[in-house]
Amino acid sequence: MTPEEYERWMIRDCARCGRRASKSAEWSDGPICRTCYDRAMRVRGRCPCCDTDRLLPGRDTDGAPICRDCAGIVRDFFCDRCGFEGLLLGGRLCEHCTLADTVARLLDDGTGRVANSSSRPRLPSSRRRSATTTRQPPGRSVGTGGAAMLIPSAAAHQC
Ligand SMILES: [Zn+2]
Ligand SMILES: [Zn+2]
Ligand SMILES: [Zn+2]
Repeated sequence: MTPEEYERWMIRDCARCGRRASKSAEWSDGPICRTCYDRAMRVRGRCPCCDTDRLLPGRDTDGAPICRDCAGIVRDFFCDRCGFEGLLLGGRLCEHCTLADTVARLLDDGTGRVANSSSRPRLPSSRRRSATTTRQPPGRSVGTGGAAMLIPSAAAHQC
């Protein structure tokens, strides 16, 4: 795409803020710039048209926020995982699910083991800390445990 084509296809006067910017969406009230798109993804309440409490990204002719169904917005904004209606990041996940995935990646120790544990992201940090400080290398704890068990029995034999 040449800069001229980009200008022709993507740059519009935003229907909501009037700024000349590349459009993020083309909704019933006109081209929507990135800023107004993000703002619309945070408007919730009771839609005056269908009386449903949900995301209100659209605008009626008076400029009042309305839901996407009433605004005729073809695209849906439901999170693929939890069904939350709002701003979708990356693929098709809401901010909450995207954050949970990021935390899961950070806590994964690289073995992939943690990735399958459902309790991982909610494990309290205090429990994690105590678990790591009291845990000893497996070889040594088995060795001392074995020796401790052998000594009394050997002593009993000699007596
Ligand atoms: Zn705008
Ligand atoms: Zn509605
Ligand atoms: Zn979600």
